[in-house]
Amino acid sequence: MKSEHIQNFKKLFETQRQSLVTAIQWTDHEYTIRSEDLSDEVDLTAVELEQGMRLRLKQRELVFLRKIDQALERIQQGTFGFCESCEEPIEESRLKARPTASMCISCKEQEERMEKRTNPFSVLRTA
Ligand SMILES: [Zn+2]
Repeated sequence: MKSEHIQNFKKLFETQRQSLVTAIQWTDHEYTIRSEDLSDEVDLTAVELEQGMRLRLKQRELVFLRKIDQALERIQQGTFGFCESCEEPIEESRLKARPTASMCISCKEQEERMEKRTNPFSVLRTA
């Protein structure tokens, strides 16, 4: 991959990283206000449900943040754009659709087939 392409990805990751960090901090802020606002009349179940939803959202954001960090690390190590399994270059169309991808399509599909065999619920996992 051309180094200017890699620089573009780097910029994209840094922008995404910044907005994720802001979003995660904002979730924390919301939490604090919410718990202070709690009174006896508040329907606890609804609050708990909402907090559970926020927590799941935050977990997704944290997973994404980790993927971005790993991608930035690969850029630094010079391995970005190469499949971590077969070490062949990852298709550019795939990187455009999913910039944090660390495997080429065929390796990823192979991995998903293996996972499906062992755990049918893993389909829900994001790549
Ligand atoms: Zn591969």
